[in-house]
Amino acid sequence: MNIYPSLKAFLDNNNVTLVAVSKTQPATVVQTLYDQGQRVFGENRVQELCDKKEQLPNDIQWHLIGHLQKNKVKYIAPFIEMIHSIDSLDLLEKIDKEAAKNDRIINVLLQVKIAQEESKFGLNPNELIENIHQFYQFKNVRIQGLMGMGTFTNDITITEQEFEFFKNYFNQLSDYIPDDHKESFTVKSLGMSGDYKLAVEYGSNMVRIGSLLF
Ligand SMILES: *Cc1c(COP(=O)(O)O)cnc(C)c1O
Repeated sequence: MNIYPSLKAFLDNNNVTLVAVSKTQPATVVQTLYDQGQRVFGENRVQELCDKKEQLPNDIQWHLIGHLQKNKVKYIAPFIEMIHSIDSLDLLEKIDKEAAKNDRIINVLLQVKIAQEESKFGLNPNELIENIHQFYQFKNVRIQGLMGMGTFTNDITITEQEFEFFKNYFNQLSDYIPDDHKESFTVKSLGMSGDYKLAVEYGSNMVRIGSLLF
């Protein structure tokens, strides 16, 4: 069954952007979704993203959603639409440099650790509040919001707690954003195939959905 039309309609109704996560899918399969109108696609690996970009139409907006190594930023800096996975100040500095080389401003999200499980990547929420001004020292990146990833679990009460935390934390952090940047801080990238409806209930306005679509 083709779930795309009903999923897209649901998300449009709620003003939620769909990032179609095409990792591990061949370009031919991605093209099928493109032909139905989807333009925003997400990948978690730089090499795979660059390979697919070569094979697919030019008007796709590519999002990098997985952990990014500093030495790979240069490959995506010329074209990437958004990077969801800022998990260190060093990485943001590197993206700023590569963006400047390409005469671009790159959209980014700060990835915060919301999962109770031991997760490898993401900024510590308390430390981020303390250091937020350092993230605003760069001219060639635009911080558009936050990305969160819940614990991989079937226990909905855990996911609910984490999404509740994300929602409150987004509002709390907003108070610390420099005044001249507050307007750009709007994106809440939260929710995947298994929990996107719940994420939307908790205020998500960007979901990253893979397995449900492909
Ligand atoms: C793979 C991935 C997704 C999509 O997961 P699905 O469960 O397939 O929808 C979302 N976000 C990130 C960071 C991912 O790596």
